[in-house]
Amino acid sequence: MKEGKLVIFSAPSGAGKTTIVKHLLSLDLNFGFSISATTRKPRGAEQDGKDYYFLSPEDFRSRIDHDEFLEWEEVYPGCLYGTLKSEVDRICKNGQNILFDVDVVGGSNIKKYYREKALAVFIQPPSIQELENRLIARSTDHIEVIKSRIAKAEHELSYANLFDIIIINDRLDDAFREAEDKVRQFLEKSPDWKNCN
Ligand code: ADP
Ligand code: 5GP
Repeated sequence: MKEGKLVIFSAPSGAGKTTIVKHLLSLDLNFGFSISATTRKPRGAEQDGKDYYFLSPEDFRSRIDHDEFLEWEEVYPGCLYGTLKSEVDRICKNGQNILFDVDVVGGSNIKKYYREKALAVFIQPPSIQELENRLIARSTDHIEVIKSRIAKAEHELSYANLFDIIIINDRLDDAFREAEDKVRQFLEKSPDWKNCN
């Protein structure tokens, strides 16, 4: 059986990475989505066990103590997010490639850990103003939450050079095409991953 490969998408919130990740998941690329754990509440139509594992802060902390995370971050004050090692095992044992949607710190850490086994993609918004417009238009967060995300975005943009490729998500169709091309090239050319760790 061919073993899976890893593709990481990171970006400041609102840049469009979830939109691009969902597009890639709809293609014939044999991806399993790494479902992260978070202590934030579900928004919109999000479902537990599909979009995220929504955990209480106590449950999340206990899993940190039991070393269950590949990586975790307090992405926003009081809001923990992390990749469970069990997710990587689950998807790998299914014989699928793994797609991660994580913040820029988590993404650069996963890349450092897996090195050439992983393709790290940074999704860049055309501008901070456009990022704010998208978060407001998405209508899923309170204005205070949007402000805290925008305040962090400038710093997050400075992580771009730690990634293998940067895709500017200006016109969505172009970003879809570029993401698909780069991911297909990586899946075809990179060596197989011979075991699940
Ligand atoms: P992220 O996962 O990075 O926080 P989303 O994928 O949720 O971002 O996108 C944020 C909002 O911007 C969503 O409402 C999405 O539909 C919209 N969006 C994504 N890409 C574009 C684009 N190229 N042009 C305009 N709106 C976009
Ligand atoms: P959101 O609340 O908009 O779903 O996500 C907020 C940020 O947390 C995004 O940048 C998202 O990629 C990031 N994130 C989601 N899951 C993880 C994870 O497992 N680890 C890390 N480090 N960040 C994550």
